[in-house]
Amino acid sequence: MFESDSSLDDELTRYVLAHYGRYCTESEDLALRVLNMRLKAEHAQNPDIQRKLAEHRGLELTPEVQRLVAAGRVPTRLAIQKRLLRDHAADIFLNYCPKCSALCRTPLARMCVACGHSWRDPNDG
Ligand SMILES: [Zn+2]
Repeated sequence: MFESDSSLDDELTRYVLAHYGRYCTESEDLALRVLNMRLKAEHAQNPDIQRKLAEHRGLELTPEVQRLVAAGRVPTRLAIQKRLLRDHAADIFLNYCPKCSALCRTPLARMCVACGHSWRDPNDG
């Protein structure tokens, strides 16, 4: 697996954090929020909003959170994804297409965006 854009996560990281972020620790959750705010600040047009986002007001950055944030967005998200898959293997369902083995967008998806295969039961309604 490789990344063409270093600011983007791989599919697995996006999937795990989007659908199983509830298993994050408090520090991980806070670090992800700070990293998202920083990303938004980079793209904000309004300097006021940019400054507020960059200061991440109201969030208490413990040494653990600071360590996670300092590692950078992609490495931190990847590390959290790996920890979640390690510590919550039984709780996390990786929904792979039965036809082409691509990772689906969501745990409940019954259609593959990669190959178009659909495995929805016609009796499901
Ligand atoms: Zn497929």
